[in-house]
Amino acid sequence: MSSTQTARRVAEELLAPQAASTEAAGAVPRSHLDALAAAGLGRTGGADALAVLEELAAGDLATAFVWVQRIGVVRWLEQAGPAWASTLEDLRAGRLHAGIALQAALRPGPAAVVARRDDDGAFVLDGTVPWVTGWGLLDAVLLTARDGEDVFFLLLDARPDQEGPTLRGEPLDLVGVPASRTVELHLAGHRVPADRLVATGRHAALLAGDAAGLRTNGSLALGLVLRCVRALEGSPAADALGAQLDAARERLDAAGPAELPAARAAAVELAWRAAGALATATGSSAVIAGGLAERTVREALFLLVFGSRPAIKAALVAFLAR
Ligand SMILES: Cc1cc2nc3c(=O)[nH]c(=O)nc-3n(C[C@H](O)[C@H](O)[C@H](O)COP(=O)(O)OP(=O)(O)OC[C@H]3O[C@@H](n4cnc5c(N)ncnc54)[C@H](O)[C@@H]3O)c2cc1C
Repeated sequence: MSSTQTARRVAEELLAPQAASTEAAGAVPRSHLDALAAAGLGRTGGADALAVLEELAAGDLATAFVWVQRIGVVRWLEQAGPAWASTLEDLRAGRLHAGIALQAALRPGPAAVVARRDDDGAFVLDGTVPWVTGWGLLDAVLLTARDGEDVFFLLLDARPDQEGPTLRGEPLDLVGVPASRTVELHLAGHRVPADRLVATGRHAALLAGDAAGLRTNGSLALGLVLRCVRALEGSPAADALGAQLDAARERLDAAGPAELPAARAAAVELAWRAAGALATATGSSAVIAGGLAERTVREALFLLVFGSRPAIKAALVAFLAR
């Protein structure tokens, strides 16, 4: 069985049937992440990882969203050399679950989190990260912090017992993917040992290279479309949306950094329309809380704004306003 088939099986047998109760509980259960890892999905990479992500998002976007965080962490750890090999293996095997918070690296202007070194070489962090997903659920977060132009990628211990006066996650009341455990993270003199430094970079260079990494999150939108196509199976709408899904995927796969923002915008616009089609086809019951169409529309709203960049936002607003 291919990793995509495995992902589809886990999504259909575990994630989708529990998606409504997961949302009602307000948190993706850690056992979902463990199940994905036990199925070997933590070892997929490249195109396989994207196909897996699409299947998981079709089943339950909140779980897929928490799961996708690891892809960026793996990428940075792979480049970090032998010192991080065992952490990388823990991540791939599912013994460790990790998220990522890149705002300090990828936003222009003042850093969300600033770093200074204390006498032992440890990093002392201050600031507020507006969005950190998987808080309280994950073991670690790859957090970026800046000292002027220098950017530090630090693997922060993020288990619930780490919370205290220097580190506090403030839950956000989300209408889309509320089970993603997304918080605003406050750091006040939070000390991170020097050996948690995974990588360093320069802010301008990271910003310049950012567009190259925009492909992955596109698979969340593709997954939502896939869900709608399957829910509408047998109808002309399913055929039309299915053809557009294939075209959106091909466009994303072929896009280089210059084309990725428009390709991402096109995928999200398709997800938004597919969710609308599913709601319309479902009928009046789509406005009753707890149904598939209602949840899918709220998740499509999340996709309109999540992981955006100025170029994606401009292209998407232009699409929607035409
Ligand atoms: C539910 C949810 C969960 C999230 N979880 C995470 C997470 O776990 N980790 C994580 O890292 N992020 C996370 N995000 C953040 C997400 O990636 C941002 O939503 C995305 O970066 C878009 O930012 P924004 O819409 O908030 O705009 P902002 O980034 O707030 O834009 C502010 C200003 O900065 C400009 N700007 C922003 N970025 C750039 C850029 N690269 N180049 C030039 N100008 C720029 C904009 O034009 C604008 O003027 C999450 C978001 C949501 C909605």
